[in-house]
Amino acid sequence: MSKKVLITGTGLGGLSTGLRLASRGYEVTFVEKNSKAGGRLNQIKKDGFTFDTGPSFFSMTYEFDELIKDCGIDMPFEFVELDPLYTVNFRGSDKSYRLYKDVDKLAEQFTDVEPDFKQNFTAYLKKCEQVYNDTVDIAIKQNFDSIPQYLKALMTVNPKHLPILLKSFWKQAGRYFKSKEVRQIVSLIAFFLGRTPFDTNAIYTLLSHIEFKHNGYYNVKGGMYNVVEGLVKELEKLNCKFIYNTEIVDYKHEGDSLTVLIDQNGNEFTADKYVINSDAAYFRGKVFNRAKFSDKRLSKMSWTMGYLTFYIGINQKLPQVEHHNYFLGNNYEDYAKNVMKNPGTLEKPYYYVNVLSKHNADCAPEGNEALFFVCPVPNLIFKQDWSDKDDIIDSIIEDFSERIGTDISKSVVFRESYTPVEWQKEFNLYKGAGLGLSHSMLQIGALRPNNYDEKFKNTFYVGASTIPGAGLPMAIISSKLVVERLV
Ligand SMILES: Cc1cc2nc3c(=O)[nH]c(=O)nc-3n(C[C@H](O)[C@H](O)[C@H](O)COP(=O)(O)OP(=O)(O)OC[C@H]3O[C@@H](n4cnc5c(N)ncnc54)[C@H](O)[C@@H]3O)c2cc1C
Repeated sequence: MSKKVLITGTGLGGLSTGLRLASRGYEVTFVEKNSKAGGRLNQIKKDGFTFDTGPSFFSMTYEFDELIKDCGIDMPFEFVELDPLYTVNFRGSDKSYRLYKDVDKLAEQFTDVEPDFKQNFTAYLKKCEQVYNDTVDIAIKQNFDSIPQYLKALMTVNPKHLPILLKSFWKQAGRYFKSKEVRQIVSLIAFFLGRTPFDTNAIYTLLSHIEFKHNGYYNVKGGMYNVVEGLVKELEKLNCKFIYNTEIVDYKHEGDSLTVLIDQNGNEFTADKYVINSDAAYFRGKVFNRAKFSDKRLSKMSWTMGYLTFYIGINQKLPQVEHHNYFLGNNYEDYAKNVMKNPGTLEKPYYYVNVLSKHNADCAPEGNEALFFVCPVPNLIFKQDWSDKDDIIDSIIEDFSERIGTDISKSVVFRESYTPVEWQKEFNLYKGAGLGLSHSMLQIGALRPNNYDEKFKNTFYVGASTIPGAGLPMAIISSKLVVERLV
């Protein structure tokens, strides 16, 4: 007999959980506070321009393959492999490093600053691969019922990796590379976890293996939102229902069972089982009023940085700019040590630029370009007032124009932006922390908010702030883990 499941939230975690459950015969309904699906994996489409709003590329495509196979459907979107993965430019230099997956092509670019690059990079990646092979299944792809069970699992990790646990990403990169350029480029990936190489544990150097060797990076033909549209179509084929503009704000329960979720208008939703894709820590505090997740306790947890994102359409082409580009300054250590907390870094910000129209002609009118900028900023714990956002955006546009040798400030025909205030308001992200809870050693595995509720036996969590963590492939793994629990 089919069982009713209500999923709160249509982020990638919610959608992939719904798909796994519907393909197993469950009757799935989604409630979503916004007017369309996707959560952070979203899209702005206006005036002929299309922009990815958050994620713009991802790794571990095999997790998507596994999802599709598990649900017995065909892949509803098309991956595009990135090579070069992205480019990196340092302020004050005309050179852009192209991060190719081929080690010889990569090494050619570092001959002046790191003559032994090939040898050092090969040794670095070998260690990253060992860490990946020895930890990923144990720490990322498992449900844990208790902290002792988690610790016991960790003790099965080869003890030769213990020294790495005591180091930062930055320090580990420093063991292999002498030049600041290579150290900075290699450790950039720590920012993808929403922290910096200085406060990210060296265990995450396993990401370099995924990035350069194991899988690489991909995006999706036509824009990342095709992932969401493709999954929603598959869900509709399985008769799943979507109820939009519906924010869950309250609940009812009987003993250890959740019986009703209630929206902002007092409408009640019932099901046999409930999956929460809203932030697992924030929802427990805000809706279930759990003392362990009160405002005071949430503020003491470790959260990721915020993002200032802006989306501009320009009426000219930029042939000199690649699809994915990082523009760094020349004070990396000082910047990274301050970016999470000190708004002063915004005087000379570092940023990422995505040109979606580069390989997707439909994403901008002919002769135009759709640009998406992401600038790491302090979240709302450390900077509450964003009345200066337009000044910051103007300064980034000016810096970008200088560095690419073309003034784009006069050709902007479309402009929209999100500060941490909007990221919080739109998606219920605590303090606008872009990736949710951080991945500090005390907030991963069984130490992260569980994917099952502590009180209600029929309630589960999926997404970035429960296990295993942030990023699109992690959302897919999270759906696999929560379905294992629920079923
Ligand atoms: C700027 C930015 C860039 C990023 N870039 C990348 C990238 O390049 N690659 C990558 O892999 N990852 C990237 N990420 C991370 C990635 O977007 C997230 O890890 C992932 O999308 C999270 O999915 P989720 O399912 O956990 O949650 P979300 O996407 O946050 O979805 C949760 C959903 O729940 C809804 N909701 C919340 N509360 C309620 C409620 N009370 N009632 C009803 N609905 C509710 C929200 O509206 C939302 O739709 C980026 C994130 C940001 C912010």
